[in-house]
Amino acid sequence: MIKLSNLTKEFLQGQEKTQVLKGVNLNVEEGEFVAIMGPSGSGKSTLLQLLGGLDIPTEGDILINQRYLSNMTEKERTIFRRKYIGFIFQNYQLLPTLTVEENIAFPLHADGSLTKEKNQMILELLDSVGLKGLGRRRANLLSGGQQQRVAIARALVNNPAVLLADEPTGNLDRSKAEEILGLISRFNRENNQTIIMVTHDIFAAGFADRIILFKDGIVDQVISRKDDSYAEYVANFMA
Ligand code: ADP
Ligand code: MG
Repeated sequence: MIKLSNLTKEFLQGQEKTQVLKGVNLNVEEGEFVAIMGPSGSGKSTLLQLLGGLDIPTEGDILINQRYLSNMTEKERTIFRRKYIGFIFQNYQLLPTLTVEENIAFPLHADGSLTKEKNQMILELLDSVGLKGLGRRRANLLSGGQQQRVAIARALVNNPAVLLADEPTGNLDRSKAEEILGLISRFNRENNQTIIMVTHDIFAAGFADRIILFKDGIVDQVISRKDDSYAEYVANFMA
């Protein structure tokens, strides 16, 4: 489903070039739920941005759904992204003055007006993320947990094959986090959605099939949840 080969990303900071991703190799299967953990500044968000077609690599290849993202023009990438990718941004990134429904519908406006079908889809999503009846409320009047659920609904509105989530439970307490992770895993199971989630929370990572330990811009270790000592590995790595 997803294949990253020798993925490299450099940023120019003033006159200096910094290599943030230093040759990432990773395969993710269709329907797999993968968590990426690693120290702050190790390049996790950068990796997710590349996967989501929001930025382009300096070198290396990104293969998603048998298409090379790395070979596309900007326009092709935008079309591809709208069709196949859902993105849950760090800190929700809702449009505060728009309503819940308007936020969820936002990615759909790109390809024309809202049809009856699309409106129905939005109502169903509202229900499945537990926000039934709140569609007309302004986004900035919601609690953090509710805003995160709007962000999830927005990421799912195009029924993406791949869901990318950057610290989706970062600002939530344990019980709210559990709710959100339950939701994400349910979509993963029911729709065979491939999920890549960046998190620093071992509890959140425990919902994934595999945990990628990321360090200094490369994959350091890959651990299966089936491995009995995975929690120990991760705790040691993150310590
Ligand atoms: P993480 O998500 O693992 O905390 P990031 O991917 O956000 O790490 O950032 C990794 C490094 O790349 C940081 O040093 C950050 O300052 C740098 N970086 C990220 N985005 C940019 C950018 N657009 N321009 C310059 N430097 C960037
Ligand atoms: Mg980050």
